[in-house]
Amino acid sequence: MIRTHPNRGGWLEVVCGPMFSGKSEELIRRLRRAEIAGQRALIVKPAVDNRYDVGHVVSHAGSKMRAVSAGSSADVLRLAAGYDAVGIDEVQFFDDGIVDAIESLIALGARVVAAGLAQDFRAQPFGSMPTLLCVADFVDKLEAVCHRCGGPATLTQRLVDGRPASFDGATVQIGALDSYEARCRPCYEPGERSERATA
Ligand code: ADP
Ligand code: MG
Ligand code: ZN
Repeated sequence: MIRTHPNRGGWLEVVCGPMFSGKSEELIRRLRRAEIAGQRALIVKPAVDNRYDVGHVVSHAGSKMRAVSAGSSADVLRLAAGYDAVGIDEVQFFDDGIVDAIESLIALGARVVAAGLAQDFRAQPFGSMPTLLCVADFVDKLEAVCHRCGGPATLTQRLVDGRPASFDGATVQIGALDSYEARCRPCYEPGERSERATA
């Protein structure tokens, strides 16, 4: 993305899209460039996301960069204060305080790049993403390749034993190719709703 950023003060960039759309790759690319430019750069990720490697952000294609784990939004602020460029991966998993934590980092002059899923597997807005997308200075919505038809995928399909997960299943279940697929709208299969979910 070629863009002219503000030349002083902090700001927020949000990178969203379904699983496999390249959010982590893009986050790593931006933070690595900040490092090359001689800036103090840090990537933070939620402690719940312990896939592959606790000390790194790893993309599905294998690119990786050192990262620190944060258990809460307060941790993010504590760990990242003082850095010039702060990347936050899987930002949708943080508590609501993440919006204020990011605003505080921006007030300290940081460039914050937040990457995350805007929608969960039910296609519903995920965590603080709606607010972050709203207050961001710059937004990029990436698409993946639909696992079914090869078209541009904007949604995340959750599969349990190869079948669409029910609508009221737990939102947070971190997985990879075997349980999640990127799908385009026509190929996306909404899960069934149980009586209990509508009561
Ligand atoms: P995200 O963080 O959005 O889940 P990653 O940055 O981890 O995405 O991974 C993106 C990489 O995943 C792509 O560059 C590609 O190599 C690989 N990949 C695997 N499946 C797909 C898919 N269905 N669509 C796009 N990329 C895919
Ligand atoms: Mg990712
Ligand atoms: Zn499709």
